[in-house]
Amino acid sequence: MATASDERGISESDERAMLDQIGRWLDRDVKDHVMRMEHADEYPHEMVEQMKDFGLFGATISPDYGGLGLSATTYARIVTQISEVWMSLTGIFNSHLMMATIVEKFGTDFQKEYWLPRFAAGEIRGALGLTEPDAGTDLQAIRTVALRDGDDYVVNGNKTWISNGIEGGAVALLVKTDPEAKPPRAGMSILLTPKVDPDTGKAYDGYTTSGKMQKLGYKGIDSAELMFDNYRIDARRHLIGGEEGEGFYMAVGGLELGRINIAARSVGIARRALNESVAYAKERKTFGKPIANHQAIQLKLGEMAAHTRAAELLTEDAARAYDAGERCDMEAGMAKYFASETAVENALEAMRIHGGYGYSKEYPIERLYREAPLMCIGEGTNEMQRIIIAKQLIARSEA
Ligand SMILES: Cc1cc2nc3c(=O)[nH]c(=O)nc-3n(C[C@H](O)[C@H](O)[C@H](O)COP(=O)(O)OP(=O)(O)OC[C@H]3O[C@@H](n4cnc5c(N)ncnc54)[C@H](O)[C@@H]3O)c2cc1C
Repeated sequence: MATASDERGISESDERAMLDQIGRWLDRDVKDHVMRMEHADEYPHEMVEQMKDFGLFGATISPDYGGLGLSATTYARIVTQISEVWMSLTGIFNSHLMMATIVEKFGTDFQKEYWLPRFAAGEIRGALGLTEPDAGTDLQAIRTVALRDGDDYVVNGNKTWISNGIEGGAVALLVKTDPEAKPPRAGMSILLTPKVDPDTGKAYDGYTTSGKMQKLGYKGIDSAELMFDNYRIDARRHLIGGEEGEGFYMAVGGLELGRINIAARSVGIARRALNESVAYAKERKTFGKPIANHQAIQLKLGEMAAHTRAAELLTEDAARAYDAGERCDMEAGMAKYFASETAVENALEAMRIHGGYGYSKEYPIERLYREAPLMCIGEGTNEMQRIIIAKQLIARSEA
């Protein structure tokens, strides 16, 4: 659908055409089903197939491997557009693309050629497996271990909260290949762990998943625990980069794009909350006039609009820096932090503006209100984002 005009990115008119096409799809095939599927926590199988057709599972993968090769800037705009309608859908391809980004950035040539075309086509969809029951922010405390045995690795341990864990077919899994290493990050690696061997079509032993974890929001998409019990895979296809000890840096490196994505999703939530609020405020009357004419409501709308625009600009700024190949942990951190806090504030203000109807399951506001807080937690909590921003600020001022 989109033609890549260079290694990363498409022309403005191609981008417009793509956004228009996705917009028509959201209107035609998504919008009217969100309320029901959200409340039933139903996995959107049909929409996943449609997203495959759009090439979204290869959105950021290079055309050399069958992807669309979109820039982070275009990608972020798509994510925002879809999140305005149903944020859960973006998690399905974003978690997958985090896995793909790690393979594309750090994999051996053989691994890129082996995995990426399968990922780009959505034939294997996947996840990023970092978090464990006892380790989220402090990734060096993970306990999943992969020990070398001849040409293979044998994996034991548990992951939790893994998006796409059930419906996805593979995970970029952060493990300890040297549990005694000091510092611990020096003994960490990433293994690409599929459920089924793509060569033989045979399911691997020792890999099981829990049922769908029950969550406040972010419904539809599956979050799961993964259990590895003497799960055995060969090193050549699965140890990303072919060298042990690089996994921590790969995981942290992959998070920059992830944070831009979370910022973009947050902008979508914030914008929807704003748009719903403007429409409702014009329609709902109290004391003989639309509530939009009350100054108390105008103060809310003004603040929501300014914050939404600022969040959007910070997200574009981070995406541009990422596309330019610059170090952008500070920019991505600022975008993620500010945009997610804006999503939370806007969702709450939208609820106040809607009065009792904001609390009703018949309006989208209560969904936005449940979705928004996850943006403050995922891809590094907002507490950590502020620390990352400050550390970079100090380091750059000394440079
Ligand atoms: C719906 C959902 C989907 C998810 N999807 C995935 C996924 O696909 N893959 C994956 O790997 N993970 C996933 N996660 C996990 C998510 O990334 C973690 O929840 C997150 O990183 C925080 O880790 P934690 O929950 O262990 O909190 P903790 O690390 O225990 O943190 C608890 C609190 O302490 C604060 N804190 C921790 N350390 C510090 C410090 N040094 N200084 C100041 N404050 C600190 C945190 O900010 C937080 O407020 C998902 C989580 C959810 C809820």
